[in-house]
Amino acid sequence: MKKYDSLVGGEWVCLGDYHENVNPSDVSDVIGLYSYGDAAGIDTAVAAARAAQPGWRNITPQARHDLLDAVGNTLAKRSQEIGRMLSREEGKTLAEGIGETMRASQVFKFFAGECLRQVGDIQPSVRPDIDIEITREPVGVVGLITPWNFPIAIPAWKIAPALAYGNTVVMKPADLTPGCAHVIAEILVECGCPAGVFNLVMGRGSTVGEALVSHPGVDAISFTGSVTTGHHIAEICGRMLKKVQLEMGGKNPMVVMNDADLSIAVPACINGTFFSTGQRCTASSRLIVEAGIHDEFAAAMTKAMGQLKIGDALDASTQIGPVVDAKQLNSNLEYVELARSEAAQVIGGERLELTKKGFYQAPALFLGTDNSMRINREEIFGPCGSIIKAENFDHALAMANDTDFGLTAGICTQNLKMAREFKRSAEVGMVMVNLPTAGVDYHVAFGGRKGSSYGPREQGRYAAEFYSTVKTSYQFAG
Ligand code: NAD
Repeated sequence: MKKYDSLVGGEWVCLGDYHENVNPSDVSDVIGLYSYGDAAGIDTAVAAARAAQPGWRNITPQARHDLLDAVGNTLAKRSQEIGRMLSREEGKTLAEGIGETMRASQVFKFFAGECLRQVGDIQPSVRPDIDIEITREPVGVVGLITPWNFPIAIPAWKIAPALAYGNTVVMKPADLTPGCAHVIAEILVECGCPAGVFNLVMGRGSTVGEALVSHPGVDAISFTGSVTTGHHIAEICGRMLKKVQLEMGGKNPMVVMNDADLSIAVPACINGTFFSTGQRCTASSRLIVEAGIHDEFAAAMTKAMGQLKIGDALDASTQIGPVVDAKQLNSNLEYVELARSEAAQVIGGERLELTKKGFYQAPALFLGTDNSMRINREEIFGPCGSIIKAENFDHALAMANDTDFGLTAGICTQNLKMAREFKRSAEVGMVMVNLPTAGVDYHVAFGGRKGSSYGPREQGRYAAEFYSTVKTSYQFAG
């Protein structure tokens, strides 16, 4: 069985015991053995990143561009093979795995361009004979902590801007999906990334993640993951006055109005709720449907959901792959039981035994629910969606906003006035009209409000806010 090590200071090093990376579509398929690091491994990685910092911040923008561009090209060239690996370790379908790899490629190529487009400001002073320049500088060493559900896109959208703005990196990927992170590290090395500029330490959140967040040599932490971990990280960073960016959960509403075109609304809700096995922070988990179209919509959703093909992620006909692991599957099944105990009508949601032994679950729709039920307040993070009946637009909007989260929200309507009002009033970071709540472009701001996100937005030019710091220089011209 092939063994994979962490990358520290340009060397592949075994920092601890090897752990199996198992395919959730077929638990007899072990992808590889990945070495888990510890706090001492983080110490050496941070030291390497600190040592590489001055060289990388002073290297030419052309050199940074060329590295990121080469990584983007390599990801695109190898997208079939990497997409396959992604589907094998995470369980999303092969088409989704290849699509996500292409997205990672596009992210690297976007930030390659940004290396050459970094601008500052020159402003006149209010005093005579003084010049003022406002410039952006790297933050320093950044720690990147990523979840398992987008194992190549999320690392890409953190690594690429971190490097583009002149930072050096220590990354800790999710322990469930070290394979994709390892592939990105290999590609960075192959493309000529100088030693220490990018370091990868695999391992558990409670040891490696904790050590990275609390390390005094790390200037900033970018985290994507669950609310509980995010709050814990925020407390540590707050105490240390460390710059921090958190992208956490969602309980995203999709509003379907009486005038919605069901040929748009139903596919958008099927996609938003069930694709990627519902394991997207932007998934539509609350389908808020106006009374006049409620029964027709519920029937159409039930029918469309029943036609989804669940199976091995690598099988070309599969539309919904397995749940990522046994723990997540058990948690989903508990929520299905909770839905029953909260008096929802439950369609689907049962565990499926297929020929291959994996973590398969039928998609679930909860009917007759209201917004106060726990199934509609807590993030399930599985292929489960609720339908909630609304009296009218105002009622739907109020329920859409009545949540601790604020990542995405969608509306299906043909009424321009309602669409406009929804875009203006939804308390979220991203709004969709006649589109699934999940599925975003790679070159624009990504993030949310309330309990979903904290700190500056990710992606696009907005990433500069987090990965750089502003300096104002005054010079006497006399
Ligand atoms: P998680 O919080 O369990 O883990 C995320 C990462 O944090 C992993 O790398 C983990 O090892 C690490 N970690 C765990 N404990 C830590 C600690 N004490 N200190 C430092 N690091 C620690 O989340 P997950 O289960 O991997 O991911 C699923 C969650 O991610 C969902 O809640 C989902 O909504 C969220 N998510 C959010 C976005 C977004 O952009 N808003 C995107 C994808 C996923």
